[in-house]
Amino acid sequence: MLGEFITFAPMIKANDPSLKSWIEVQPNSDFPIQNLPFGIFKTQSSTSRVGVAIGDQVIDLLMLNKLGFLSDFKIEDSVFDNQYLNDFIALGKPFCSTFRQRISNLLNENNAELRDNKIARSKVLHSITNVQMQMPVKVGDYTDFYSSIDHATNVGTMFRDPANALLPNWKHLPVGYHGRASSIVVSGTPFHRPKGQTKPADAELPVFGPSKSLDFELEVAFIIGKSTELGQSVSTADADNYIFGVTLFNDWSARDIQTWEYVPLGPFLAKNFASTISPWVVTLEALEPFRTAGYQQEPKVLPYLEYKGEKNIDINLEVLLQPEKGEENLICRSNYKFMYWTMEQQLAHHTVNGCNINIGDLMASGTISGPTPDSYGSMLELSWKGTKPLKLKDGTERKFINDNDTVILRGYCEKDGVRIGFGEAAGKLLPAL
Ligand code: MN
Repeated sequence: MLGEFITFAPMIKANDPSLKSWIEVQPNSDFPIQNLPFGIFKTQSSTSRVGVAIGDQVIDLLMLNKLGFLSDFKIEDSVFDNQYLNDFIALGKPFCSTFRQRISNLLNENNAELRDNKIARSKVLHSITNVQMQMPVKVGDYTDFYSSIDHATNVGTMFRDPANALLPNWKHLPVGYHGRASSIVVSGTPFHRPKGQTKPADAELPVFGPSKSLDFELEVAFIIGKSTELGQSVSTADADNYIFGVTLFNDWSARDIQTWEYVPLGPFLAKNFASTISPWVVTLEALEPFRTAGYQQEPKVLPYLEYKGEKNIDINLEVLLQPEKGEENLICRSNYKFMYWTMEQQLAHHTVNGCNINIGDLMASGTISGPTPDSYGSMLELSWKGTKPLKLKDGTERKFINDNDTVILRGYCEKDGVRIGFGEAAGKLLPAL
């Protein structure tokens, strides 16, 4: 019932494409007034606190609260004077929705409250280039799925059997594994090439050393906005009420370590050394106008995985590779709509056995590949296991990621003249320690 109500609900006021802000927003900006993503930032002179991005500005919500602009909500300063969004998210989705509406009103071109208060504006607004973005949430648990049919088909074709690329369970459940939360880092955080055990194809015994095939994985993650009790399950119809928002996510992977270690329990040290998250959490609410139909799921899924309505989301995704002194190379263009399993199905599956979830938990999509070779979401697929190296603008080639390369994920939705972007998830690979 609730799911159907949400599907046919009228347009959310804060998403109205005709809204304009008194803050100037460039047409190619990720952060128009219809977006209003939440993040954690600090400046040279301030503590970490909750902010909202608009155009090239960040609004300091702690200061906004202190100055009385949010007084109707009666929120303790400590919710905003915080290293993480978890306490804010815990106020509840209906609350966060009303709150986002208030920010939208305050920034509306016709609202003079803040617009004409020069002193308040100078205290509340920061140029986005002058702030340092932090981890947006404290991630308790991190799960990674494997839900792109093109990615799973490519990997199955490369490593097993092109005729039976998908394993028998793949179209019946969203395959996933539990990842490592401690090593999730915010965009801009460099990390070292991991070392580990690998077994070269021609060797009898494994060897130890730096990974020789370090890869990225283009993913989108959702952040849990409501906790459950042990034993409770979340239905696909109710799932959106448990999802606060969405970020970009790079699930860095060491393919040579993975190949040797993954049998029979799946990835371990090949993926737990670093994962990069974008700092701005785009609310699920801001993404509602970009919902689109998903795959026809054949064979038919079990009843607990069925869902109603259009639940995929049309998010354009890009991957750029930047050598240390070179320019950015666009190496992949994909889209979140290519997901076979929706986030609602992933969450329903994750909790169907009674597994409890907590605010701030992060669930990542799995590598998002599209149907064409330029839309593959990993080097493994783009270079087809290293057999087709990518040529970069500086004349060099890549089968995998080199030391001192930076990989940048970007994403945006676009419709009716509104562009809802995610900022970026960038990470630089440093040489092994
Ligand atoms: Mn992954």
